[in-house]
Amino acid sequence: MTDVTSLADLSLLPVPEAGDATARTQAESGDAVGEQRNRAVEAILSAVQGGESILLVAHVDPDGDSLGSAIALGLALRTLGSRASVSFDSDPFVVPRSLTFLPGQDLLVPPALVPATPDLVVTLDAGSLGRLGALGRVATRARRMVVIDHHASNTRFGDINVIDADAASTSVMITDVIDALGVELDHDLAVAIYTGLVTDTGSFRYAATTPAVHQLAARLLATGIRHDLITRTVWDTHRFGYLRLLGELLGRARLEPEHDLVWTWCAFPDLTRAGLTLDEIEGVIDIVRTTAEAEVAVVCKQGADEVWRVSVRSKGAVDVGAVCTELGGGGHRFAAGLTSSNPLEQTLDSLRDALVRAPRLPV
Ligand code: 5GP
Ligand code: MN
Repeated sequence: MTDVTSLADLSLLPVPEAGDATARTQAESGDAVGEQRNRAVEAILSAVQGGESILLVAHVDPDGDSLGSAIALGLALRTLGSRASVSFDSDPFVVPRSLTFLPGQDLLVPPALVPATPDLVVTLDAGSLGRLGALGRVATRARRMVVIDHHASNTRFGDINVIDADAASTSVMITDVIDALGVELDHDLAVAIYTGLVTDTGSFRYAATTPAVHQLAARLLATGIRHDLITRTVWDTHRFGYLRLLGELLGRARLEPEHDLVWTWCAFPDLTRAGLTLDEIEGVIDIVRTTAEAEVAVVCKQGADEVWRVSVRSKGAVDVGAVCTELGGGGHRFAAGLTSSNPLEQTLDSLRDALVRAPRLPV
């Protein structure tokens, strides 16, 4: 039976009033973000006007927000007459199947072919230098590095750091940059920005989905994009092999009430047997995390390099972003991750330890 008391409690959640301490802190941090954004826009405009080389970098194994944001900025810079390149570290260098509809793919350059010492590097949706993979070295050699990101765990590794942990997606932040650059939002820009928005809000379901997010969505839809096709491709399309593999991964999921944890794993041979690639099993965590009996959900995915990519989610009582940062990873408060070269059991053990120690937040 549904526990109606917990549903009724929803109406009792405090609503911050304008002028209270929370609202003031947010306004102040908003000003700081605005100031950094102005500096970023100046740096970008000066590079465009000077005909300098500009490289836009998404994080390793990019998702819709990272790649969508990089492509959106690349398209906007092209409108301004710049030939910015977009790159990311992935082996092999291919766009994830679910993102092949993105416009502007002619902007993509493999890491081996990017300028060795670009004048300007802009990183999108990467919380730390390590998240750029091999392109981290190129970024540090750039004359100037601008970091645009919405991870609370961001290490501020650029010369200019535009970090807004309240932003629903990096693509929301990129829209502000594009507006400040004076480029009009056209259909292709809207597709790239909407892809980031729909990816990071879980199709407008997560808490970061504010009225402003819906207003931006309305503005993007007004350009005539096929949002239904974007959402279907990003979220609701899988090859048949995925159904079989999903059955296997869910069948072996483990519930550990003593750790308030549910988890499963996909070893690399499981993936190859199904004929799938890592990006195609990104959605498994979204099913595992629906488990009512566990606060925290984890999916460990092994790549060809034998390294485990660990996706961690919580329902709001545990700051898994802090937990993952402690273990060398990072992310958002309730959606985070880490990578581990240790064996699976050892990786899980350190995670269990950190979870048990993590303070419980009021929900
Ligand atoms: P996902 O589980 O969807 O791959 O990642 C969830 C969130 O955690 C994303 O915001 C992603 O950027 C972040 N994240 C995932 N893996 C890592 C990692 O190894 N290091 C850091 N710093 N962040 C990660
Ligand atoms: Mn993001």
